[in-house]
Amino acid sequence: MNDRRTLDHFTGCLIGGAVGDALGAPIEFTRLPRIRMLYGEQGVTDYDTAYGRRGAITDDTQMTLFTAEGLILSKARQEYAGPDNIVLAVYHAYLRWLYTQDAQIQKRLIKGYGTCSIVDGVLTGYKELHCKRAPGNTCLSALRSGNIGNTGSPINNSKGCGGVMRTAPVGLAFPDAEEAFDVGCECAALTHGHPSGYLASGAAAALIADIIAGASLEDAVDNAVRILKTRRGMEECLRAVETALEYVSKGEESPETIEKIGAGWLAEEALAMSIYAAMIAGGDFSKGVLLAVNHSGDSDSTGAVTGNFLGALYGVGRIPEKWKEELELNDVITEISFDLFERFGMNISAV
Ligand SMILES: [Mg+2]
Repeated sequence: MNDRRTLDHFTGCLIGGAVGDALGAPIEFTRLPRIRMLYGEQGVTDYDTAYGRRGAITDDTQMTLFTAEGLILSKARQEYAGPDNIVLAVYHAYLRWLYTQDAQIQKRLIKGYGTCSIVDGVLTGYKELHCKRAPGNTCLSALRSGNIGNTGSPINNSKGCGGVMRTAPVGLAFPDAEEAFDVGCECAALTHGHPSGYLASGAAAALIADIIAGASLEDAVDNAVRILKTRRGMEECLRAVETALEYVSKGEESPETIEKIGAGWLAEEALAMSIYAAMIAGGDFSKGVLLAVNHSGDSDSTGAVTGNFLGALYGVGRIPEKWKEELELNDVITEISFDLFERFGMNISAV
């Protein structure tokens, strides 16, 4: 086992996700034939302008940063004030994300939670994070409702990919895959109540936890599947991953193949497509994320999750320089990765 509990791999996971997100951003709502018309047979091979700039991140990366901030603050509080409810800390971080997307909510948040839910952390201070980058309606409405979802008491019946696309920091924070799976599920269930909506998030977090612990991608996927099989309501999510693994074993690699796995709007599809793209990548970060974004579906989310997997696996050094240089908020993502590593990477006992 080659332990990847290093700053290089923590940063790789979050920067990799953001790069995949930014590559997919211009084509999130574009069908494959039109992608080929615009960019040629290969589809997108580099950043293109989205939201007024090259290398723009979307809600996937914005929310991933808030997941990380919730985990970091919870761990910091635990260090001076004793046990802290980590999922609740992540929930409060998502409320701060909600505030970045809807400043009108501020009064209600202050009334309901006190000012700390807004002023905690540093992320709300970055004006770029207040930009609207096609935020998911389920995330917005669940957080606006004032109710806190959990797996035992689902907040809705949504299985959109809004949980899985923001889960990577959980895999970095929890060295034990089973624990990462459970926390990944609960953090997703804050906004997504359908089992596939949160189980996909748990599986992605477990997969990253095992990669960081030094497992091969194949072994990490096997273990995530093993844990998934023990959970209620897992059939749909398992079927999606098994379909992906079937295409990996056949060695089929094309946009048409990834489209047979799904479109990525749904959590289990985003997970399965990302597993497929990461496994087909064969050690090549660029190949994996480009395969993950060139399809008719939710390109930025599948790009983000694939980038999380491959960045955790290879480290930030293997991500092309040109993509890191042009990446929006590269410095903030790097800083949050450092904070996560400082709290969770050096001492492997998680919260
Ligand atoms: Mg997005």
